[in-house]
Amino acid sequence: MDPSSPKIVVLGAGVVGMTVAKLVQDELRHASVTVIADVFKEDTLSTIAAGIFRPGTSFRGSTNEITQKWIDDSWNYFQDILKTPEAAQAGLMPISSYIFSKQNYHVTRNHLIEHLVPTYRPVEEDELKLCGEGWKYGSYFETIKTECGAHLPWLERIITGKGGKIINGKVDNFASLNQYDLVFNCTGFGAKYLCKDNDLVPLRGQVIKVKAPWLKSAFYGDYDAYIIPGFNGIATLGGTRQYDSYNLNVCKHDAAGIMDRCSELVPALRKAEVLSHRVGLRPHRMPVRVEGEVLDGVKVVHCYGHGGYGVMTAPGTAMHAVRIGLDTLRNSSFKNKL
Ligand SMILES: Cc1cc2nc3c(=O)[nH]c(=O)nc-3n(C[C@H](O)[C@H](O)[C@H](O)COP(=O)(O)OP(=O)(O)OC[C@H]3O[C@@H](n4cnc5c(N)ncnc54)[C@H](O)[C@@H]3O)c2cc1C
Repeated sequence: MDPSSPKIVVLGAGVVGMTVAKLVQDELRHASVTVIADVFKEDTLSTIAAGIFRPGTSFRGSTNEITQKWIDDSWNYFQDILKTPEAAQAGLMPISSYIFSKQNYHVTRNHLIEHLVPTYRPVEEDELKLCGEGWKYGSYFETIKTECGAHLPWLERIITGKGGKIINGKVDNFASLNQYDLVFNCTGFGAKYLCKDNDLVPLRGQVIKVKAPWLKSAFYGDYDAYIIPGFNGIATLGGTRQYDSYNLNVCKHDAAGIMDRCSELVPALRKAEVLSHRVGLRPHRMPVRVEGEVLDGVKVVHCYGHGGYGVMTAPGTAMHAVRIGLDTLRNSSFKNKL
């Protein structure tokens, strides 16, 4: 290997792989970086996601410290982009949100982001009536969202602008990548087959994309109901979270349930124009896997299994993966510490 210009390949062109590729280029200006994937941009799981920065409280890495660092690093990374004129091109926008529950106070709290976002507070009495009657608990918070429909093309422009290569292809084993000095495995749910990782479980999600330019805030209710506004007046209505379901077809019963729950929160949604129904399998894994190992004589850094939170945590996990990768290029052995 030429230590000044290592050959690096990133497997996967979802938000995780593309973020890793960008960060590798930032760190190693003379590295040759190639991204290989069999699915790109609007066809990836990443593009189905609303991309809101609000983790489930069960999201975790291998320790609490690592989990929090991933989230803090991700927030700071997105804030840096938001301050630039490129924010909209990069698919980033600030967003305010209400979360209500009729049953459980705890679902309205979020220990992973309360200290991080500019505002996270309990709602006032009159705000409890914003989405109809009967809500007992609620929080209001300000966060951000990253729309991968714009974010992935933005990352691709940066990567190819710096000489990175993008190759369309499916990889069946790591041995076939032995011409590279380092492999980042960002294959999302594909890692289930590539790494024979039985800890990866599909968590099926179905959403409806509707035209609702008048919607200014995100809203969450019970039973996984969420309404998240986005660019061009297009909002994402969700959702479902079906454990171990591989069904990629749109289910009309799920669609009806989503529309019922969301229009109970915001009745005007009943009349919103439906643009599309989308289904994706979240790559759920406890913990998310960010670690290095040598496979078939090839140095591999894994970064996959982000479940329902891979858009918001892509930067922090990618930074961790890149640190592990650079460390092994310099020291020729893996240390998986933070
Ligand atoms: C309905 C829904 C709503 C969501 N909402 C949010 C949200 O609000 N916020 C949030 O942060 N997250 C959300 N998520 C989760 C988010 O979409 C995922 O965590 C994230 O997209 C995972 O990114 P990824 O890059 O790992 O995977 P993917 O986007 O699936 O990319 C995987 C890439 O690997 C490639 N690949 C796989 N196997 C191979 C192989 N063998 N050879 C070559 N290439 C391969 C694929 O071609 C693809 O390019 C949501 C998900 C769903 C389904």
